[in-house]
Amino acid sequence: MRNTCPGAAESSGVCLLGDLPLRLDLLVGDPRVNPYWHQHVSDADALVILARFLDVLSMDHMKALYRTLPLDTSLPPLAFFLVRDAGEKDFKMSCLECGQKLWVRDYDIGKTGRCPSCQEAFQIPAQSAYLRRQLSLPDNLPVDQVEMGDNPTVQDALQRLVLRIDDRRMNEDEDRVDESAMKRSTIRIQIQDQLQRVLSVHPNAR
Ligand SMILES: [Zn+2]
Repeated sequence: MRNTCPGAAESSGVCLLGDLPLRLDLLVGDPRVNPYWHQHVSDADALVILARFLDVLSMDHMKALYRTLPLDTSLPPLAFFLVRDAGEKDFKMSCLECGQKLWVRDYDIGKTGRCPSCQEAFQIPAQSAYLRRQLSLPDNLPVDQVEMGDNPTVQDALQRLVLRIDDRRMNEDEDRVDESAMKRSTIRIQIQDQLQRVLSVHPNAR
C-alpha cells in the first residue's frame, strides 16, 4: 500500500492518478467472518482482486473470495491484478495432476513441461490464462499484470479501471440523474496474497 500511496496508513491511502486522487482501501481476511465486508464491497466504485501466487491453496482462497461477489449489474467494475516484483519473469502455480507447487518461467509459455513430482506432461500456460481458466472468468473481465510499487503498470491498470467507472456512471446517469453523484465515491480493490485482502479506491475529487 505504501508503495502505491505515499504516506498511506496500514490499509488505506490516497494515490494520484494524473491529477485525480484515488483512495485505496485494503480489505484483508475472510469475507464470511467480516460483517462489514459486503457493505464495503457494495459501497465501492471499483474492485480489484490482487493475485500473487496461483498455487492450489492460493487459488482456493481466490475462488472463495470471487464467489462472495454478486456477479450481476450491481457489482462495481472488477479487475484482477497479477502482482509481481519488478523484473520477475516467472510465477508460481500448482501441477494440475498432483498439486506440486511449481515455478514457471514466462520464457517457457506454450512449451510442454513435465512435473518433476508426478512426471505428468502439460503445456505451460501464461499466468493470466491459467487464472482465467481456473476461475472460469468471463472474457470481458480484465486481468492485468502489474509490478509492485508506484509505477506505470499500476497507474495504467488503475486508469483503465477509472474509465470503466466513468462509463458506468454515465449509464447510471441516464437512468437516475440525481442519486449517484453523492453516493458513489469509492473504488474497492481486492488483494489476494497469502491472505485474502481487499483494497478499495475512492476518487475523492470528482
Ligand atoms: Zn505433478
